[in-house]
Amino acid sequence: RQLPVDTQTAALPRQVYGAACSRVAATPVHAPRLLAWSSAMAEVLGLERPSSDDDPWVQALAGNRLLPGMYSYAMCYGGHQFGNWAGQLGDGRALGLGEWVAPDGQYWEMQLKGAGMTPYSRGADGRAVLRSSLREYLCSEAMHALGVPTTRALSLIATGEEVMRDMFYDGHPEAEPGAIVCRAAPSFLRFGSFELPASRGDTGLLQALIEYTVRTHDPAFASADAIDIAGWYREVCARTARLMVAWMRVGFVHGVMNTDNMSIHGLTIDYGPYGWLEPYDLDFTPNTTDAQGRRYAFGRQPGIAQWNLAALGQALTHAGVAVDVLQQSLNHYGEVFHAEYGRVFADKLGLHSLTHDDPLLLDLFRCMARHETDYCLSFRLLAELPLAQAPEGEALQHYLDVMAPAFYTTQAQQGESRDAWQAWFKDYRARVEQDAGDAVARQARMQAVNPLYVPRNYLAHQAIEAMSAGDAEPLARLQQVLSKPYEAQPGCEAYAQRRPDWARDKAGCSAL
Ligand code: AMP
Ligand code: MG
Ligand code: MG
Repeated sequence: RQLPVDTQTAALPRQVYGAACSRVAATPVHAPRLLAWSSAMAEVLGLERPSSDDDPWVQALAGNRLLPGMYSYAMCYGGHQFGNWAGQLGDGRALGLGEWVAPDGQYWEMQLKGAGMTPYSRGADGRAVLRSSLREYLCSEAMHALGVPTTRALSLIATGEEVMRDMFYDGHPEAEPGAIVCRAAPSFLRFGSFELPASRGDTGLLQALIEYTVRTHDPAFASADAIDIAGWYREVCARTARLMVAWMRVGFVHGVMNTDNMSIHGLTIDYGPYGWLEPYDLDFTPNTTDAQGRRYAFGRQPGIAQWNLAALGQALTHAGVAVDVLQQSLNHYGEVFHAEYGRVFADKLGLHSLTHDDPLLLDLFRCMARHETDYCLSFRLLAELPLAQAPEGEALQHYLDVMAPAFYTTQAQQGESRDAWQAWFKDYRARVEQDAGDAVARQARMQAVNPLYVPRNYLAHQAIEAMSAGDAEPLARLQQVLSKPYEAQPGCEAYAQRRPDWARDKAGCSAL
């Protein structure tokens, strides 16, 4: 399935005009070694785990060779970074390998991240380090298991080469082991794929790209002789709204919601300095380079997504769609977001219905914010409250004891904090009573949307430390636990705990 291809072949950094991608060969690596393999993704693709590092698949997934039918390319796109138009960006270190047809007939674009320089590498080296690749690999698969739309990951391969990174931005780069992730998705088309040709006034390329995208991926918006661009855009708005609710549901913070990191399929894409909300805090960002502005903080994500959609809509006006028509589609974003948010948070609290601005929900967030309460754990524990007991005296104290594992400070169980929580428990119990549903069914419903295991930063950090020391087992075990995030797994209690004190400074991550 073809898109306009760059006619020049030089892999040198340059501006690429009139093309959606450039043919680029991967730069071979010294000594590829398979570090991790997602059997869940492999099963979807109909692949078997390579039995040794000499296997042609390990070589292909390291960029050392192409298998029959594969061809490699880097995509051309632009983007708004931190609110500013950044011009051409493109796959500076990612290479597509073509589309794989799975046994069920689905097409999966496969892509290597860290496979060498491309025309889009700008000043950088086209490589990725083990720590960031492992984080992408781990989180992609964990998000899928959590039911959050995402690009997937098949493999994590050590290159046997070193990469220089200035991890602390102190002007002293250090050598780190390099690694390559193979990711898979219906496509890696981003908002920025459409913004770049629009910004250059290249309406021919923009039209061709829209035509290709809609006919290939969303044929419901294509007829024999026309494309319903506004209808397709409305659908992208709806998907993005659902994605934002899914992130808010599990406490995921992307960290770099630039428009080049927004998938037109509504998938989570580009796992860089992402993080997980631990103490509830709308201002939390894991991205240490965004610590000042907090543009991409947890609580800002839904608004930023809408801003990004507006940038995409602006690009689509260059394909001849009227602004007011696009504006209507964009309004749809808010409608879907609020409806979906209410529905999902009703599930999270085990209530029949809830609005996005329900005082019960806002009061809960207020309690959580004031008393450093672990986001995921607290929702999980709410399902365990013995609500049958009358809400007074000892019963209320007992509620607090149930919640205790979610509190980062014991203050939450004392004084004013205790009173605020107990007041909330009373309101909550009254609402649950009003609903008069079956308690067991209610608990099951809550447990199905409130994960027990999420890839907290410190857990990923431990897996990285072990892998760096040559031990792949902790990553494999962590991945196994995260593959069933809603099911209590015997012997896995340690993975379900709030972040330990020693890991307080492990909540952030650089963008490198
Ligand atoms: P990101 O912030 O990860 O979305 O990356 C923004 C842009 O920088 C994209 O165009 C990436 O391809 C590019 N980029 C990031 N890291 C590298 C690298 N090590 N080498 C080349 N390009 C890179
Ligand atoms: Mg990116
Ligand atoms: Mg990135």
